[in-house]
Amino acid sequence: MRVIIVGGGVIGLATAWRCAQRGADVTVIDPEPGGKASHVAAGLLPPSGDMLIGQPDFARFVLHSRALYPSFAAEVAQAAGTPVGFLRNGILDVAYDARAAEGLDRLRQMADDFGVRYRMLTPDDCHRLEPHLAAEAHTGMLSPDDGSIDPRALTRGLTAALRHAGGHLVRERAARLLLDTDTPAVRLSGGALLHADRLVLAAGPWTHLLPGLPDGLVPEIKPYKGQVIRLHGDTSVHHTVRCGYEDRAVYIAPRTDGELAVGATYEDTGYDEHVRAEGVADLLERVRRVLPAASRMRFAGADAGLRPGSPDGRPILGPTSRDDVLLATGHHRVGVQLTPATAEAMAEAVVTGRLPQIARPFGADRFASTVPTPA
Ligand SMILES: Cc1cc2nc3c(=O)[nH]c(=O)nc-3n(C[C@H](O)[C@H](O)[C@H](O)COP(=O)(O)OP(=O)(O)OC[C@H]3O[C@@H](n4cnc5c(N)ncnc54)[C@H](O)[C@@H]3O)c2cc1C
Repeated sequence: MRVIIVGGGVIGLATAWRCAQRGADVTVIDPEPGGKASHVAAGLLPPSGDMLIGQPDFARFVLHSRALYPSFAAEVAQAAGTPVGFLRNGILDVAYDARAAEGLDRLRQMADDFGVRYRMLTPDDCHRLEPHLAAEAHTGMLSPDDGSIDPRALTRGLTAALRHAGGHLVRERAARLLLDTDTPAVRLSGGALLHADRLVLAAGPWTHLLPGLPDGLVPEIKPYKGQVIRLHGDTSVHHTVRCGYEDRAVYIAPRTDGELAVGATYEDTGYDEHVRAEGVADLLERVRRVLPAASRMRFAGADAGLRPGSPDGRPILGPTSRDDVLLATGHHRVGVQLTPATAEAMAEAVVTGRLPQIARPFGADRFASTVPTPA
């Protein structure tokens, strides 16, 4: 089976790798694989978050991905021959005031519901675990079985693993989709035409904009900009840390090389991908509030990316109204976290035509009422 995947972020690359492992002849098309949101993401892998409140099917999918992560990361690392920066170093949530502590209560409630291991902490416990954090914590919570992954290392690993499994990567833009033929085809920016038995669209917030799509086949994927800064130096944190104070939040993800990724802004500013001074200043202010020594760290860079947001905030997976055109997008704030579960579900859908049970609530067919079925 010939499979073309348009878009080589974490979602497209992982899906391609899993399809290649199942014997498909896979080609990923992307001028800049791993270069967009998947390059910028902090890579936090928390067991729960506010967006899962009241969405048990979504929570189940996230927890399923969490359960897959250790073996997924090990398998990518082994196939690629390079580490992928997967850390189960514990997620430490610190609330610096009563309002932020209410947020921790919600997380605690979810952890109870989901059967996730955690420990509530006193201010002294927080200080003992992370001596460089500002001291006057109100309360804290440690989820010892969770952590983060370095998404850049992951996309590098997935690219190598895909090659190892016999897949191809074409560093060109999909200039036009040709869907008025028996089987789908893609015209590359260099002029070549590639034919497929299955076409997977995984182009993040550009998915619905791909030229040649019939009206209504792909719902609008809205970009939500996020900026992240990177700091380097002797001051470090050992856990993946999330802090809340005065209705503000900041997280710090330590990498295996000692770098700290600090995020993130959340902006509704269209397709602007520039790092803005205002965003950097805001993140520096937030991180200095909770990690005062950050001021003396080396500024290693800043990045901006676009989270792909679907109309209902949930991923969009599987076949569209055309069985041979599938979607893998809309992962919004949790694309890195959902990479193992998405890749598994998409490979199943590509090969068998059906998503596995756990992924069905995210089927692209839920938008079918707004999608005209082609004659
Ligand atoms: C600041 C920030 C922090 C984040 N933090 C986290 C986090 O801690 N945890 C988490 O789970 N998620 C996080 N996310 C979300 C996560 O990054 C995304 O959900 C995920 O990267 C989406 O992956 P993707 O492969 O769908 O999209 P992308 O990474 O955007 O990949 C889409 C690809 O499509 C390609 N493309 C576009 N048009 C074409 C075309 N015409 N032809 C060929 N290719 C094309 C692009 O070049 C790109 O490589 C964060 C995002 C941001 C911005």
